[in-house]
Amino acid sequence: GVVLFNHTADTARELLKQVDIALHRAKQDGKNRLRFFDPSLQEEVKTRLSLVDDLRHAEERGELQLHYQAVVDASGKILGVEALLRWQHPERGMVSPAVFVPLAEQSNLILPIGDWVLRVACEQLAQWAGDPIRADWTVAVNVSARQLLEDDFVDKVRQTLASTGAIPYRLRLELTESMLQRDVGQTISKMRLLKSLGIRFALDDFGTGYSAMSYLKNLPLDQLKIDKAFVRDMCGNASGIAIVRTILSLAENLQLSVVAEGIESREQFDLLCEYGCHAFQGYLFSQPAADTSEWSSHRVVPSEGGDVLPTQNT
Ligand code: C2E
Ligand code: MG
Ligand code: MG
Repeated sequence: GVVLFNHTADTARELLKQVDIALHRAKQDGKNRLRFFDPSLQEEVKTRLSLVDDLRHAEERGELQLHYQAVVDASGKILGVEALLRWQHPERGMVSPAVFVPLAEQSNLILPIGDWVLRVACEQLAQWAGDPIRADWTVAVNVSARQLLEDDFVDKVRQTLASTGAIPYRLRLELTESMLQRDVGQTISKMRLLKSLGIRFALDDFGTGYSAMSYLKNLPLDQLKIDKAFVRDMCGNASGIAIVRTILSLAENLQLSVVAEGIESREQFDLLCEYGCHAFQGYLFSQPAADTSEWSSHRVVPSEGGDVLPTQNT
């Protein structure tokens, strides 16, 4: 980390802070490299710190919400939903989880926030159990590596299921490949314990991380989720298609179900159907929504040339 100075306005303390920021960025960018301090870095750090500060109080201030996005079959029938976290910041508006989940992970705030997500999703499951349209839906919850590595994770899930009355086999936990980089043995044994309760597992964003085939064989998974980047690259692109077809046949051979994510066009949907995909998620069928009360049992699959938004109810 390097800071250049040629005036005396900055105190030694300030300069050291700046060099620290540059050093942090050098490490973040992959180590073994030089980074010069520039004021925009400091702004970035400030923004990050203030977001983390605000995030600390987000739950108690009622700023967190869960939105639900439908997962449908080829006829548009809703099989379940994925719970997606939203943060309604009082000044910044809706902050994307792509921004704040990494901050929550770095600051360990993902632990209380993850508990909140799991509880609210399980409460929702329990509530839907008595609903004629929603009783069969599964609810998928994204789980961070940090959460899974906590000693009491399995107990927490067990307690949450018990206190909310949610049916375990309607709950699906979504893990990412990044989890497999650390302590796979521990991950597998926790997954087995949770599976013995009836909970199912999906591997999210499949193909974007570093999953070795041996993990796929050893992990007690039920489902692969094809990342939206692969779905996006599919149309008119032979190698994009080859990747998607390879994932579909891999899943079939391993007896795993598959959900394709990020479907935005009828063309993508038709291709995926042709290649044997049975479950779909994306703006073509539904935007993530806080309230599903207007949804019926099916989402309309827009006809050829149909646009992404908005999806109507049947
Ligand atoms: P993910 O789990 O892969 O979730 C799918 C993301 O794709 C969601 O973004 C969803 O809104 C978006 N998406 C859905 N359909 C489409 C589409 O047709 N086109 C495009 N371009 N995008 C689509 P979102 O809600 O911004 O979440 C981003 C990521 O944040 C999630 O990716 C997940 O990794 C993480 N996340 C969300 N909620 C939680 C949570 O409760 N806990 C943790 N640990 N992570 C979460
Ligand atoms: Mg997910
Ligand atoms: Mg995903």
